[in-house]
Amino acid sequence: MKIVFSDFDGTLTLNGNLGAVFFDLLNIIKANMSELVIVSGRSISWGHFLITHFPLKHAIMEGGGVIVYKNQEGHIVEENLISDEEIKKLEDITAELKERYPECIMSADSFGRRTDRAIEFAQMSKEDVEKVEIFLIKNNVNFSRSNVHINFWVGDVSKSNGVKHFLKEYNPHVKPEECIFYGDAANDESMFEFFTNTVGVSNIISILGQLTHKPKVILEGKENAGLNGVYNHVKELFESSEDF
Ligand SMILES: [Mg+2]
Repeated sequence: MKIVFSDFDGTLTLNGNLGAVFFDLLNIIKANMSELVIVSGRSISWGHFLITHFPLKHAIMEGGGVIVYKNQEGHIVEENLISDEEIKKLEDITAELKERYPECIMSADSFGRRTDRAIEFAQMSKEDVEKVEIFLIKNNVNFSRSNVHINFWVGDVSKSNGVKHFLKEYNPHVKPEECIFYGDAANDESMFEFFTNTVGVSNIISILGQLTHKPKVILEGKENAGLNGVYNHVKELFESSEDF
């Protein structure tokens, strides 16, 4: 596998924590001349953190809205994958949403977001979440649920669109079938549809019924939840000489 793409929350973490196994995973991937690219719904600021503090070259953040990477001089560079007009429309809609629905709880990292915003739906009542979703639908604003947030955005943003752009512009010689993707939530569905090699870590079971496009391999058992599932699968994948 030339590139290992992975979601972050619930896939590279376990019960909300990033454990020591993460570094073992990075070592295996590096030893096999592959690259880990995190594709997450978290904000662009998280992308800066990941690229700065871990040996990662690229991160695709905000559900595919922006790519963060280090250039040849080692400086962090960002590429927005939506237009300035779409960014402005999102700002306006967010202001209106907050005014109309003060009960809507924006995620703490929403201030650091550029191409989407996020809502802490787990802290809100079901009725309030419904009202907010109806508002978004009426205003032609797209949204999806990760395992932590409802993310919303304007324009054609998805994890798979982010990855398609990334492969075309940053890695034109890598084919999608030479890559693998790991995920655990509904906002990973476009990736399960796009890639042939896809794996759901075992905690995906709770949302599996919501997916039209399911991962090709679904890991089972507590020992394959989140980060441990990715580690076990990657280890086996690189140890066996056979293809996926
Ligand atoms: Mg996730």
